[in-house]
Amino acid sequence: MNASNQQKSLDVVIVGAGFAGLYQLHRARKAGLTARVIEAGEDVGGTWYWNRYPGARCDVESLDYSFSFDKELEQEWTWSERYATQPEILRYIRHVAERFDLRRDIQFRTRVTRAVFDERAKRWTLETDAGESFDAQFCVMATGCLSIAQAPNFKGLHSFAGTWYHSADWPKQGVDFAGKRVGVIGTGSSGVQMIPLIAEQADHLTVFQRTANFSVPAQNEPLDDEAVRHAKAHYRERRARAREANNGLYLEAVDKSALEVSEEERLREFEFRWRGAGGGFRMLRAFNDLLVNEKANEYVSDFVRSKIRAIVRDPKVAELLCPKKELRFGTKRLCVDSGYYETFNRPNVTLVDVKAAPIEEVTPRGLRTSAQVYELDILVFATGFDAMTGALRAIDIRGVGGVTLGERWQHGPRTYLGVSCAGFPNMFIIAGPGSPSVLSNVVHSIEEHVDWVTRLIQHARETKRAYVACDLEAENEWVHHVNEVADRTLYPRGNSWYVGANIPGKPRIFMPYVGGVPAYRKILNEVADAGYRGFVLS
Ligand code: FAD
Ligand code: NAP
Repeated sequence: MNASNQQKSLDVVIVGAGFAGLYQLHRARKAGLTARVIEAGEDVGGTWYWNRYPGARCDVESLDYSFSFDKELEQEWTWSERYATQPEILRYIRHVAERFDLRRDIQFRTRVTRAVFDERAKRWTLETDAGESFDAQFCVMATGCLSIAQAPNFKGLHSFAGTWYHSADWPKQGVDFAGKRVGVIGTGSSGVQMIPLIAEQADHLTVFQRTANFSVPAQNEPLDDEAVRHAKAHYRERRARAREANNGLYLEAVDKSALEVSEEERLREFEFRWRGAGGGFRMLRAFNDLLVNEKANEYVSDFVRSKIRAIVRDPKVAELLCPKKELRFGTKRLCVDSGYYETFNRPNVTLVDVKAAPIEEVTPRGLRTSAQVYELDILVFATGFDAMTGALRAIDIRGVGGVTLGERWQHGPRTYLGVSCAGFPNMFIIAGPGSPSVLSNVVHSIEEHVDWVTRLIQHARETKRAYVACDLEAENEWVHHVNEVADRTLYPRGNSWYVGANIPGKPRIFMPYVGGVPAYRKILNEVADAGYRGFVLS
């Protein structure tokens, strides 16, 4: 139901109907608050509504990458594969929306363009692209970390006679690649997932690679009845173990340095994680120092490079696919694939190095690099997102004194605990910069944030406080802590979207909190137990 004719003066207004917005709506209702979600898309799902490209699936196992707040939901839903596809995840999110009757409080096809805090009334007014406005005491930004696509701005794109698509705005009816000459630009997680499938359908596929990233096999497989029965019988233990793991994932970790074992033991462990059931992010946890020690990182990097050389038959292509030394394993989001490197053995696939010969322009008939012209019928941009800050900065958010979030964040995002910004009272961010967010199982982090924010709102209301603001000092200390923890790792050295390196001109700051999910939860709990230390409630 469209909510446009319904109540527009609310306790909580929520922007975004992905995992975060839906759970926030559910929790707000449970807390007795009036709430509405405003969503730009036509349906629920967020990431899983927009990213419909072939091969799109999660890289965190579905048994973990799903809500844990309701035991019955957990038991009644059955995942068909270890890593579910986009259509299955979208079906799940729709099921959640139906089951908890969420749609009646969601307004679709509406983009929030402006959010202004009224200091006198201590309320937010949100304006939309349809010219409506909503006012609420609290505003929750559930706008997503990867929801603003990096728009392709190649010279000449408008002249292209074929069709082009971005991975994050994929047509609902799909794309028919049969008999076509297709070009894919980008070899991050999206490119790595779609390339094997497009190669199977297209007449010819040309992959334009600027930076080779590390990819590990997902070892995806169907979940048979026995696996499902076992998982459901032990779901609570599984969730509890995930909660105590650094990235909120149920993965066996080896608590040893890669330097303290023999070469034989090290290779055995890497090999086990490459081939073994589950594959994927297990590799990151083969040893406890892969992301903090250069030598340990070199070991795992060399191992993956040896695998690429063994899989890809043409040595020149293999070398091009091998990530270079400057890119430390895992410091750019690790890709998790199904048959990516194998695809380059196909006769209808060509890999082009656009670092050596950059793309100069799109022409009516294809694409021209500084070295060659490529004739194409379809161009696919898997060029990523303005991550973590893009969706928030796209809204004209004005806090105390009319200061905009854009101004406050001109040198990079600043938050207290990743949930609140000084000067923007009564506004909360879910799984945003300064929280474990994208370094964790994001659904897990979303649940933790939403629960914490809802308790804070409840506390404010029970104690008759209309105003919840984090103070600048607390924010400064948190930003310092986030950077300090990141600097103890190799993460900030990667030229990734984690540091904004993919967007020209974006300030270079390591945005997520790398201290780990359990340590972060402990801090959140301590802050709450200390009467919401660092917040002013008045
Ligand atoms: P989103 O799902 O991004 O939803 C935000 C919503 O807000 C969107 O629907 C958007 O339209 C809406 N919105 C934004 N701005 C406005 C506005 N101004 N007005 C109105 N609406 C607005 N994470 C994992 O942990 N594991 C995975 O396996 C995984 N796989 C991923 C695969 C892909 C292809 C991508 C792109 C990301 C993946 N992620 C994964 C990260 C993923 O984004 C999160 O896991 C999660 O789905 C985020 O949920 P969310 O609700 O916070 O944000
Ligand atoms: P991404 O990781 O940022 O990758 C973008 C790719 O496009 C990179 O290879 C980049 O090259 C290239 N590129 C960008 N601009 C270019 C240009 N002008 N010319 C040539 N190449 C260009 O984006 P993504 O693949 O969409 O993934 C983003 C994040 O979403 C992931 O890291 C992950 O968190 C999430 N995701 C997850 C999954 C999953 O497996 N579940 C799938 C998709 C996405 P450079 O590296 O040189 O910049």
